[in-house]
Amino acid sequence: MRRATSSCSHGAEVEAGALAQRAAATGSILGGICVVMGRCGAKLREYIGPMLGNLSRLLGRLTPSVCAVCGAWPSTSVCEHCIQAFAQPAHRCPGCALKLPNAMISCRACAENPPPWDRALAVVDYAYPWDTLIAEFKFHENAAWAHAFAGLMHNAPLVGPALDDADVVLPMPLAPERLRHRGFNQSTLLARQLCPHKTLHHALLRVIHTAPQSSLPRKDRQSNVQGAFAVDPFQRERIAGKKVVLLDDVMTSGASLAAATQALRRAGAAHITALVFARTARGDTQP
Ligand SMILES: [Zn+2]
Ligand SMILES: [Zn+2]
Repeated sequence: MRRATSSCSHGAEVEAGALAQRAAATGSILGGICVVMGRCGAKLREYIGPMLGNLSRLLGRLTPSVCAVCGAWPSTSVCEHCIQAFAQPAHRCPGCALKLPNAMISCRACAENPPPWDRALAVVDYAYPWDTLIAEFKFHENAAWAHAFAGLMHNAPLVGPALDDADVVLPMPLAPERLRHRGFNQSTLLARQLCPHKTLHHALLRVIHTAPQSSLPRKDRQSNVQGAFAVDPFQRERIAGKKVVLLDDVMTSGASLAAATQALRRAGAAHITALVFARTARGDTQP
């Protein structure tokens, strides 16, 4: 994959050697603590043991040493071979970010019914192995994946320039109930990794609680999120007349992104790019 640099560069590509060193350092620190523990009483070990287990698991997540796809070691979280195999740049429709034959400028659906944003960008298809890794990111509390996904996004054609050109980056907000349940907003973590100095965390708000889009058939998704988003009136001047990148992890029907885009239009955004890490195939209703 082409390597690009941008003003939003975050250094997401961590060298395998550095990771191995960090893992070794982690092991020696924990080993040293265990030696000290061996000299302590059983009561102390009863309390400290589980804490060390949690710390070890956390550090293991933060310092991946094997490729999560093929198991190659030492590696970044996804090795270069798997990136080449599963994240090749593709020609995509600027309206819906679905793959297109090279000769086509736009898909028929977008030509007939243009989406509300100015363009859409996606980095990979929502398919193996990314569907599994995104689930790991979102549903198994493995927030460290934001770092790896942001690295791939930065290196994708058109994405780096879009971020450089943007005035602000807005992560798609989660409903408060879902945020409490999950503990983090995956789009916010991605935005922080991609472009921290342009990210506005609370300018775009979810103002209506809606049923999860994944629980609904495609035909009901648009009406489900109609009016669900609004721009914070106190942040309006940071949106009006600005170039905005609206960021989400996955685009399925695009209904949530469309509803958020309409809120940004009402606030006067001058140009809106809908940017996602992964795009489901047309007709898919997952995730
Ligand atoms: Zn691999
Ligand atoms: Zn299209």
